[in-house]
Amino acid sequence: MTALEYDRGFIWHPYAPLNGAYGTRLVKSACGEHIVLEGGKRLIDAVSSWWTVAHGHCHPAIVEAMRRQAEKLPHVMFGGLTHDPAIELAQKLRAIAPAGLDRVFFADSGSIAVEVACKMAVQYQTALGRPEKCRIVALKGGYHGDTSLCMAISDPDGMHTLFKGLMTRQFFAEKPSCRFDEAWDETDASSLARVLETHGDEIAAVICEPVLQAANAMNFYNPRYLDAMRELCDRHGALLIFDEIAAGFYRTGPLWAHSRSKSVPDLMCVGKALTGGHVSLAATLVSSRVAETISGARPSAFMHGPTYMANPLACAAACASLDLFAAGDYAGNVADIERWFREDLAGCDALPNVKDVRILGACAVVEVFCMPSREDVDSAIDRHGVWLRPFSNFIYSMPPLVSGRETVSAIAGAMRDLALAKPGEEAGDPDFHE
Ligand SMILES: *Cc1c(COP(=O)(O)O)cnc(C)c1O
Repeated sequence: MTALEYDRGFIWHPYAPLNGAYGTRLVKSACGEHIVLEGGKRLIDAVSSWWTVAHGHCHPAIVEAMRRQAEKLPHVMFGGLTHDPAIELAQKLRAIAPAGLDRVFFADSGSIAVEVACKMAVQYQTALGRPEKCRIVALKGGYHGDTSLCMAISDPDGMHTLFKGLMTRQFFAEKPSCRFDEAWDETDASSLARVLETHGDEIAAVICEPVLQAANAMNFYNPRYLDAMRELCDRHGALLIFDEIAAGFYRTGPLWAHSRSKSVPDLMCVGKALTGGHVSLAATLVSSRVAETISGARPSAFMHGPTYMANPLACAAACASLDLFAAGDYAGNVADIERWFREDLAGCDALPNVKDVRILGACAVVEVFCMPSREDVDSAIDRHGVWLRPFSNFIYSMPPLVSGRETVSAIAGAMRDLALAKPGEEAGDPDFHE
């Protein structure tokens, strides 16, 4: 039995059946923008390994920080104990956090950071004597993770419909439709306003992915929406949670996607690129008002604590990653990547199978009417040497933030080729998603 046969028989992969029908490739190493396969073939990682790789794979500064930490203290429980990497990382995060968000809860994945933010919102309302404010409002087209609360606040018609029975009922506003580059249309927030007017006394918080609705909709919307959201939250005594897990760390241009608006949230989740794509870590940043309200009430403890909370190895990787962000010109790199994608994907929107082309920061989306077949996707990957992972109706790329001119050209070439491919019989295949 070869390694790949073994993999096919016994190991589940994300969003895939356990029979290897979708195929997997065996990766032996990775370096910079490249994944290196068994046999030595190199693929450009055009999806940054699910949007995590900021500085390139296997970055020497991050690997070295992890090596030093591994020799000293790979892990210790965080209950009743603390350590230097956690303290140093909290200092670095506070230094770049939006104004007022200066308390930190470390989580081991993005989903958990979102769960923590929602639980804090409910505990905050309870501390203020409003325990009936215990539900969340989210946006259609959003995605916040795969655990059950995260599923319940992700797009209600999205990939999680099978599990409705497991989910608690939350509230949804319509997907923002005023595009990033359009003039702001106030009526875009009227659905959210209606939800809050009708159910405000049940609502603990409103959550969204600022500017970029990623895993469910690949939708870039107008940042003024966030200002409308902030105002509505204040009017109805709801907290505002920004989930910057996908959009944060320069993915859309600025460090935080929401900084294109005037608004600051009460809670903010970060993850994915936090460690530069080296190891799982996430955090919930909390305003002092929320933190002090929770801590001043009874119970004053916040009831959550993952086993591997603030894992020292992950914190050390994140510290090294944040040092790289601080030392580089990532906003400049991302502006270049955006310009190159615009040049290289010009005219793509006129192709018969293309519905829309959207580019913002280091994120390029070609929305097609019909998905190419899996065989066509596989052959484009091999021909161009570009690892792409189209889903739903989106052929997209979110390349490493250090990608150069030639990398972007190669990716855009592969995307254009796929947009030209004959639509597959599987078009509309419900399995075809992330
Ligand atoms: C990926 C993602 C999450 C979930 O993060 P995990 O680390 O996969 O749990 C949550 N929110 C957004 C916006 C994401 O893109």
